[in-house]
Amino acid sequence: MNTIQKLEALFKQFPGIGPRQAKRFVYFLLTRNPSYLEELKSLIAELKKETSACQSCFRYFPNAKIKQSLCPTCSDQTREENVLMVVSYDVDFENIEKSGAFKGKYFILGGVVPILESEPEKKIRINELKKSIAARKSKGLGEIIFAFNTNPEGENTLDYVKEEIAEFAKVNNIKISTLGRGLSTGAELEYSDTETLKNAVKNRQ
Ligand SMILES: [Zn+2]
Repeated sequence: MNTIQKLEALFKQFPGIGPRQAKRFVYFLLTRNPSYLEELKSLIAELKKETSACQSCFRYFPNAKIKQSLCPTCSDQTREENVLMVVSYDVDFENIEKSGAFKGKYFILGGVVPILESEPEKKIRINELKKSIAARKSKGLGEIIFAFNTNPEGENTLDYVKEEIAEFAKVNNIKISTLGRGLSTGAELEYSDTETLKNAVKNRQ
């Protein structure tokens, strides 16, 4: 493979990027000036060094100076401890947070469970979620809200996660809810507007 093909293959692994777009990215880079490419190169090299995964909610956050183990949301004492919102992706967290619809804590699963997946536990942080819920129980956790996209993969993820934690939730009297009306079928949280998210959180069921 030559350099163009190698880069193409890397871009093709990006979420939502097909072979044609991957090719366009490579040719776009070829038209840029050297300083653009230099900046891109150095930012990619720094990305993992300057970012950490929160040890509690698992989201990525900028953490260049004093290496914190908890992100600003998890270390915020004013946030409600009794309610936990579980989302698939960091972008879902960001959008819900931006809407101001929710004041509790979060957990990021890091993916979805595809339909007919034979090893769902390898696709999402289900074991980490179970540990997190168990640890939060002593801090007064009373409700878990599942906030997934309302597409088939999101629904499948919901079914799987619900079943995995049902027993623990029942024994410990933890309410399970999902984002309610207002989120139409096929909705993606990443692209939902503030009003829609506020209603979905308020009308959770
Ligand atoms: Zn966190």
